[in-house]
Order: sequence, then C-alpha cells, then structure tokens
Amino acid sequence: MNDEQLLRYSRHILLDEIGIEGQEKLLCSRVLMVGAGGLGSPVALYLGSAGVGRLTVVDHDRVDATNLQRQIAHTLARIGEFKAVSVVQAVAAINPDVTVIPVTERADDALLDQLVPEADLVIDCTDNFATRHAINRACVKHRKPLVSGAAIRFDGQVAVYDPRSAQSPCYACVFPESDLLEETRCASMGVFAPLVGIIGTVQAAEALKLLCNVGQPLTGRLLMLDGRGMTWNEMKLARNPSCAVCGGH
Ligand SMILES: [Zn+2]
Repeated sequence: MNDEQLLRYSRHILLDEIGIEGQEKLLCSRVLMVGAGGLGSPVALYLGSAGVGRLTVVDHDRVDATNLQRQIAHTLARIGEFKAVSVVQAVAAINPDVTVIPVTERADDALLDQLVPEADLVIDCTDNFATRHAINRACVKHRKPLVSGAAIRFDGQVAVYDPRSAQSPCYACVFPESDLLEETRCASMGVFAPLVGIIGTVQAAEALKLLCNVGQPLTGRLLMLDGRGMTWNEMKLARNPSCAVCGGH
C-alpha cells in the first residue's frame, strides 16, 4: 500500500481483526455481484469504499425514476443509463483503487459459468427466484461462497451459503427449485426504502468478513428482519442430503 492508501484505509487498519494484512487481502479480492438495484447499491458502495480490488457488476436493467426512492447508487442525471454502468460511476467517484467492471447482460447460466470461476466470492442482489437459483448452481459448481440477500415490503433476509464447507447448505437446500413459489415481482410490490439499505449493508459486511477471515460468517444461518417491529430472528439452516443441486457434491 502507498501512503495515500494507508491514510484512506486507516480506520480498517486500526482494527485488530483487519489490520494491514486484511486490507491487503481486500485490495487483492475479486467479487462478483449480480443486481445493481436496492441491495446492490449499498453493496457496491461499501465494497468500493472498503477497497475491494475488483468488482464485477452484472445488471441488464436501466435506471428509472421509480428506482431512486431506494437504489442509492443511482442519480437523477443517470436515469436511462444501465444500472451496472451507473454503479461504476458511483464507485469511481469514491475510490479510484477499485476496478469496477460493468456487465450489462442478463445473468444466465452461460454468463455465470464464465464469471463465477473468476471471483473469490459472489453476492446475490437480485429480485427473482430463477436468477437466484442460477447463481446458486454456479456457486456450488465452482465452489464459491455466496452471500444471499432479499428484501420486500418491510421484510428482509440474509444468509451465507459456502460450498467450501461440508456442513453448509446451498440456497436450493433451503428453497428447493421444485417448490412452486409464487414469484413476487418487485415492480408490483412495495419496498420500504431503508430496508434494502439495511439488508444490502449486512451483505456487504458478510462479504468483507469472508474476504479477510474476520469473525463468524452467517454460513448456515438465515437472518430475518421484520422492519415493522425492527426485530431480527435467526434460523439454523441444514444441508439437504438429497438436494438437487449440492446433493451429489
Ligand atoms: Zn443444496
């Protein structure tokens, strides 16, 4: 690290759990995040400010006026731009150390198969089950830790699924693809503005912890927030031996 970086990251370096070694790990880390909306905004801003070396942002959507109530990485001036590109500009304005790569394509199996192996860690900031399952399949296949978050109305949840650990369930162990869950489209549902900020910020914290081996990750634990009463609950998650995705691994 140069003098400028020692200053920029001094509040991380002062933490015993991170220090210079941990900060250097962050600067060498490669993170893939899928979704640059409500959850993706705080994730990108915190990973960017914290100095994660390379951030790949996948989102095929464009910024519109209804996004600005909660998707804090975007601005009025960037309405109509790709969200992935808008996030790159937001991070660039904070930290020139971070290489942010926008990918403006849909996150399908082929794209994930190409991007997941290059990442140290994957963060799911999407809003639909089909993409969540595609991301999970790629993470299990390439043995990459997955930080998963979801937020709708006043309810949020976060969990870490880590295929490197034999005990860890995968997303499909908990939410099997065969379950015909009714797709709740973000476009027709309300979302309390700071809820995505709270959940996305927890995702960013878990990602940074995993990247520099700090504390106990949320692996195998589903953290659930009821924003109405501001109550948090935690559920232990078990691996499903007959899971269609990770059962054979
Ligand atoms: Zn599984």
